[in-house]
Amino acid sequence: MTQVYNFSSGPAMLPADVLRQAQEELVNWQGLGTSVMEISHRGKEFIHVAEEAEKDFRDLLQIPSHYKVLFCHGGGRGQFAALPLNLLGDNTRADYVDGGYWAASAVKEAKKYCQPNVIDAKVTVDGLRALKPMRDWQLSDNAAYVHYCPNETIDGIAIDETPDFGDAIVAADFSSTILSGPLEVSRFGVIYAGAQKNIGPAGLTLVIVREDLLGKAHTACPSVFDYTVLSENDSMFNTPPTFAWYLSGLVFKWLKAQGGVEAMNRINQQKADLLYGVIDTSGFYRNDVAPANRSRMNVPFQLADSNLDKLFLEESFAAGLHALKGHRVVGGMRASIYNAMPLAGVQALTDFMKDFERRHG
Ligand code: PMP
Repeated sequence: MTQVYNFSSGPAMLPADVLRQAQEELVNWQGLGTSVMEISHRGKEFIHVAEEAEKDFRDLLQIPSHYKVLFCHGGGRGQFAALPLNLLGDNTRADYVDGGYWAASAVKEAKKYCQPNVIDAKVTVDGLRALKPMRDWQLSDNAAYVHYCPNETIDGIAIDETPDFGDAIVAADFSSTILSGPLEVSRFGVIYAGAQKNIGPAGLTLVIVREDLLGKAHTACPSVFDYTVLSENDSMFNTPPTFAWYLSGLVFKWLKAQGGVEAMNRINQQKADLLYGVIDTSGFYRNDVAPANRSRMNVPFQLADSNLDKLFLEESFAAGLHALKGHRVVGGMRASIYNAMPLAGVQALTDFMKDFERRHG
């Protein structure tokens, strides 16, 4: 069978070693004669899995002890609602930086609960899409928090700066970039990420919240989204997505064995440099994001002649390069190259792209 590399934006590729281990222990987990999916989340066996996963996640990102890690339901969009419901307190205003599709979606949801002050960060520089640097973000004086999305999965645009806004509470949607490199957690009030890209399977959402921000949830906040309730119950107020939690734990162990987020950072840079390099030198492929804002995780690109899109997708699929179709709102192609994508996968993609250009360019 052809080696398959899956460039899906999410749910995305998982490390093959992790899938193999999960397969091996699926029907008889730890000699219990049952799978990890079929045991109580409150039994000592699963509690051990849960604690170990949290410990490894904390180690990987060096999360300070005054931050809680919550294992939640509801995905990234769940957090679009949970955030205002937990952080507003008596305030009605929050700053929202709009850098792309997902940041704008967060604004839409937030409008149900507060008056977002939208800071449009989208600019054009030399004909390329870019985002205003943080020093040009006009934060308001009376906002409960500022929200932004450091990696726009659809637009392929990223903000790699580390926030430094004094006392302002920074909340960020790391769904498509968490664990891709080191992260200075202490600069944030809340970090959240849906699991299905760089963490594990869909169904789990991780929230990292600074302890002093707990206790402010709106009375109408559903308990399953209330950070304080989740924290007081070790993320087991209701039944958590146990299989996703377990599998994410295996991914954390895998990440540690690879050398942690520093090693990932290096490899992710190599992969991105290779792919953008081929796009930029081709004259046949094009990416229209300014170099400083290019995403290392999601690389959208267009073919010079969009009539060739269908053929490109058919031929790439036949070559084992799957899920390269761009998002419907952008068109063209998109290669998502999260942690689980090896350098060899990007090498195979760029070899294919060069060959396709030779034949059709
Ligand atoms: N934020 C970002 C950056 C995303 O990429 C996505 C999903 N692709 C979401 C939020 C929404 O996540 P979910 O589908 O888990 O609600």
